[in-house]
Amino acid sequence: MSDRLAIDGLPPLRDVVDAHGLAARKALGQNFLLDLNLTSKIARQAGDLSNTTVVEVGPGPGGLTRALLMAGARHVIAVERDARCLPALAAIADHHRERLTVIEGDALTEDFAALAADDAPVAIVANLPYNVGTALLTNWLGGEDWPPFYASMTLMFQREVAERIVADPGEAAYGRLGVLAGWRTDAAICFDVSPQAFWPPPKVTSSVVHLTPKSAPIPCDVARLETVTRHAFGQRRKMLRQSLRPVGGAALLERAGIDETRRAETLSIAEFCALANAL
Ligand code: SAM
Repeated sequence: MSDRLAIDGLPPLRDVVDAHGLAARKALGQNFLLDLNLTSKIARQAGDLSNTTVVEVGPGPGGLTRALLMAGARHVIAVERDARCLPALAAIADHHRERLTVIEGDALTEDFAALAADDAPVAIVANLPYNVGTALLTNWLGGEDWPPFYASMTLMFQREVAERIVADPGEAAYGRLGVLAGWRTDAAICFDVSPQAFWPPPKVTSSVVHLTPKSAPIPCDVARLETVTRHAFGQRRKMLRQSLRPVGGAALLERAGIDETRRAETLSIAEFCALANAL
């Protein structure tokens, strides 16, 4: 390990990875960010964190975690599945006394609302493992209760997933994820990150997406919205009277005031809500 320290007084991330033998595991979606300038840029997208509890999924060797702490986050709660990363994360927790809590666990089954149940607003910030990123986002967007436990989400995805999150009607990437995200949040792509920024480099470009919950989305039951979008986009090239046949077809469309010959990709979010409400 070199004697050099990074700007936060901890060893450089590459040294941390070497010292703890953190060879990246593909099955855990491990593509690490080792440049604190870049992780600081991601942390900045989350806004002022000084009064905020940050929930991070998959801290790995801690590059983004360190940036969030340097940015002044009041408290970071980080959930990591790979036990090999825990000693490296413990060193960060020691350095930033009381401000980092590391939990060994699976983010897919973690109760994040309960984890972050103090009075401070919550920001979710993560360079998500690509294999569970969409499932986690869908969980956070798809709860019964709204507004949710978090005030914002700043998340890194593969560019293709980011495009689906922010897609508008008529765009090729518009689908179930775009309807859910657009219904309940304002979402925007902040910037792209090239494969070379990661170790090891993934095959595709990534993007950081920032989402803030809408205080008053169009009233609509989330399970019904999920049902209509699943059927509508399940056969996206077909007319809706055909794709929606299992849930009422032409009669449902008539009740919602939507022409039965239209296709899923042309419907606005308000029209999907009308369909869910007519179900
Ligand atoms: N935050 C680090 C960074 O930016 O360098 C690592 C990001 S890496 C893309 C994804 C991280 O998520 C890995 O550390 C991996 O072990 C962890 N991970 C994968 N599946 C997980 C799960 N189900 N729950 C919690 N962490 C998980």
